[in-house]
Amino acid sequence: MRSSTALGWAAALLAPAAISTLDALPNRPSPQLAGFLYLLAVSLAAYLGGFTAGLVATVLSTLGLAFFFTPPRHDFIPANGDQGAGVALFFVVAILIAQLFERRRQVQRQAEAASARANRLQAVTARLAEAVTPQQVLDAIVTEGVEAAEARAGAIGLLTLDGEAIEIVAQRGYERNILVGWETFPLASDTPMAQAIRENKPFFFRSSAERDAVFPNLTRPDVPSHALAILPLVLEGRAIGGIAFTFPTEVEFDAERRALKTTLAQQAAQAIDRVRLYEAERALRQRMTFLADASELLGSSLDYEATLTQLARLAVPEMATWCSVDMVGPDGSIQRLAVAHEDPERVAWAERLGAEYPPDPAQPMGVPNVIRTMTAEFVPELTDDLLVEAAQGDERLLEIVRELGLRSAITVPLIARGRALGALSLIRDETAPRYTELDLDLASELARRAASAVDNAILYREAERRGDASRALAHVDDGVVLLDEDGVVVSVNPAAERILSVDSEDVVGETAVGSIGGWTEIEDNARPSEGETRGPVTLPLVQSDGAERWVSVSGVDFGDGVVYALRDVTAERLLERTRSDFVATASHELRTPLSAVLGAVKTLQREDVAFEPEQREMLMNMIDSEAERLSGIVGQILLTGQLDAGRLPLEHELFDPVELTQSVVESAELHLPSGIELRVQAEQNVPPVSGDPNQLRQVLSNLVDNAIKYSPQGGDVELRLNRNGQFARIEVADCGLGIPRDEQERIFEKFYRLDPALTRGVNGTGLGLYISKELVERMNGRISVDSEPGRGSTFVVEVPLAV
Ligand code: ADP
Repeated sequence: MRSSTALGWAAALLAPAAISTLDALPNRPSPQLAGFLYLLAVSLAAYLGGFTAGLVATVLSTLGLAFFFTPPRHDFIPANGDQGAGVALFFVVAILIAQLFERRRQVQRQAEAASARANRLQAVTARLAEAVTPQQVLDAIVTEGVEAAEARAGAIGLLTLDGEAIEIVAQRGYERNILVGWETFPLASDTPMAQAIRENKPFFFRSSAERDAVFPNLTRPDVPSHALAILPLVLEGRAIGGIAFTFPTEVEFDAERRALKTTLAQQAAQAIDRVRLYEAERALRQRMTFLADASELLGSSLDYEATLTQLARLAVPEMATWCSVDMVGPDGSIQRLAVAHEDPERVAWAERLGAEYPPDPAQPMGVPNVIRTMTAEFVPELTDDLLVEAAQGDERLLEIVRELGLRSAITVPLIARGRALGALSLIRDETAPRYTELDLDLASELARRAASAVDNAILYREAERRGDASRALAHVDDGVVLLDEDGVVVSVNPAAERILSVDSEDVVGETAVGSIGGWTEIEDNARPSEGETRGPVTLPLVQSDGAERWVSVSGVDFGDGVVYALRDVTAERLLERTRSDFVATASHELRTPLSAVLGAVKTLQREDVAFEPEQREMLMNMIDSEAERLSGIVGQILLTGQLDAGRLPLEHELFDPVELTQSVVESAELHLPSGIELRVQAEQNVPPVSGDPNQLRQVLSNLVDNAIKYSPQGGDVELRLNRNGQFARIEVADCGLGIPRDEQERIFEKFYRLDPALTRGVNGTGLGLYISKELVERMNGRISVDSEPGRGSTFVVEVPLAV
């Protein structure tokens, strides 16, 4: 532009001058030709230099034409009117040509300017399309569109979520200190941007003075006067914020400039809207990803301490500059489990600081407060006042937190089953955006999931622990019943199920008194008072099936309930009883033959009586048989003692069972009571037996004696011998009193005797069958009974054959 103006002026001055020099030629051009050449010079000057250059060229050319070529030459006075009119016409035509070209140039200039503007706007639009942050939006307008806006600096302010304040989200070109304190300001404030947004209308101030007239509070005498344009950013008729342009100098805002700024503001508003949507979408995606990652992490392990530490790390830096997890200890104290920051040195520093300032559970804000009240604390803007309050007068702490530049904080409780397990804290410093309600929602959701993961882990550990305990309890022989404070059964181990004849499924969750037969008895005798131990006491328990069982019970109160330990002592009690019964029976058994022997001896010793030989023999026989009986009883008692002590030697030899059976029968026949028939039925060729023949003889004698003893009405006693596989089988069958079915097992127990009513008072010690069973088993044989009361019994002894 500038070079073409210079050319224009050169043409305006030089072209007419050059044509004028043609006057010096011998063959001088005619005035018409010279006029034509001057017209070309004017056209050239107007074309190159515009109207003024054209005008200058016209004046020079008119003068040149009049002076050099119009007669009288070298004189400005026209010779006649025609020539004067010709020069005047030339002047007019030259002027018209100059004007014509000037108009064309103007149109061209306007077209060029319009296209340049359009290009700039297009460039702005293109960059806006790529912008994904408010700063990029502003940069697109202020830097790319700097020529379009002609501004030196710019800023974008957006209404905060609550619509109460304006936050400067981007700025370019301002000196840092000018904006200090203006990061956020109330919508109600007396500032151009606030007003532009409130009234939804632009402000164009040509100079500082113009602005100061409206906003005297903003007067800054130290800054040179300059223009300022502030426009609302409008979306769907509503102002969402404002954009400010500061110009280097004063500017006259003509309609075109205003229109351009308005267009820029509109584009900026749309771009901001898109950016917001984009940001919202990105933030949402980020949150969802974070939540998904966090959930996966939380579900990955039951080691919740490690998981929560990893979770804190996961939150940094996207969700928080600092993330910490505090847990409530068993004693109610608050312990820091994890703290995370991008910089490990800062983590170490924070850990030291945490140790120096342990949380006070009574603290009115922060983690202790969140845990105590089980409510989240959300501080979108950590103001200095809040920091001062949090420091509670500790200057050093205040200085530290101030230096950290903390901006925004969320602390959420970790709640499970109605109690706070701890708290999760997210803090952002000035490098990150402030937390919003959405972040609070996210943190709450995260806390919910973390709490349930922690709770699961705790429950699992507890269950494991209990599992270990109950596994141990499952294997102990003592019954263990656990009741809660209300007497409701919490657990019953298998031994207790056996002892109490209950199924744990039926009683757990029910009151013990209501669900376990005989429990009232236990409660009455063994229930300890609080914190005490009681027992053991031995009680008879009548169970639901009517059976009686003796149980030794002790109870321990552990505060939340009572544990009862039960031991089934029925067998011991029975043994005890049978033992005392035995003492009675044995003394009776011993006394009877003893007194018979004594009586007989005393009688024989009488000198005043002369005995007949038969009488003497009878008394002597009596002494003999009673002494025999006595020795039998003593023998049984001694044998039992030897068996119990394991001191009875066992011979191993081969002998003929048939022979042995015969000899037993023969010796029994020697004192067979009347009415008893003794018979033997032996299979021939039963192979020899391996064992102790004397002991087997003792067994068979016992069985035969019993068969005779318990057949008071007389009858047949039969011995049957045959081979049963690898065993010699000897049966001793009688037709006597018989044995009730449910007693048949027990008659082989030590000291066990049937009710005297059933045995019609037949004497005995209850040791014979015990000894028999022991001896047979020592020979690797077996003994059993089959009997029907009133019809007789068959005892079967089987001993291994030698083959
Ligand atoms: P006892 O010295 O009392 O006979 P045992 O051990 O030999 O002791 O027998 C135990 C109990 O078994 C006896 O008291 C009796 O009640 C019962 N018994 C044993 N043999 C017979 C039988 N053949 N018939 C009926 N009852 C029997």
